[in-house]
Amino acid sequence: MNAADAIHLNYEAYERQMRLFTAKGHDYASADDTLSNSKKFVKIAAALRLGDMIQAEKPEAGFLTMEIHKLIRWCNLRTQGGEPRCETLLDTTDDAMNYLRLAALALAEEATCKESLKVREEASDEQAHCEKLKPCPFCGGKARRNDKLTEGIEGVVECKECGACAFASDWNRRVKA
Ligand SMILES: [Zn+2]
Repeated sequence: MNAADAIHLNYEAYERQMRLFTAKGHDYASADDTLSNSKKFVKIAAALRLGDMIQAEKPEAGFLTMEIHKLIRWCNLRTQGGEPRCETLLDTTDDAMNYLRLAALALAEEATCKESLKVREEASDEQAHCEKLKPCPFCGGKARRNDKLTEGIEGVVECKECGACAFASDWNRRVKA
């Protein structure tokens, strides 16, 4: 590509971008303030403390950001009058719905992460109990604390192999020979 072609392509791109700039500007912002949508956005985001969610790295914050922009666009088109120049109001609705779906997925992912973290914690709890407990006096099997059997009385320890059980306070006691 020679320099003349490059400059020509750049001019074409500029014209294309300015057409988009004008159309989007009409749909999102007011005619007398090109930055009006962004000014509204920062006020809404501050009132909702969206920054705190971003700070906490909540992934849905990204989608809620887009949601706010879509609501601003919607209200802008309704209050300014005139037809949208880019996408229709129905497109905006569909976008807004899909951003909420994505936010819901972020919640679902968080719930899954919490669940697997809980399972891991329980597993390491059990491991910690096993390490402190002596092996089964009958079969030599590994022992574990069975909190489901306690019913609020006292911790019960059972052998994983033969099922022998005793109160936690007794499990490690052995009669000296
Ligand atoms: Zn045993």
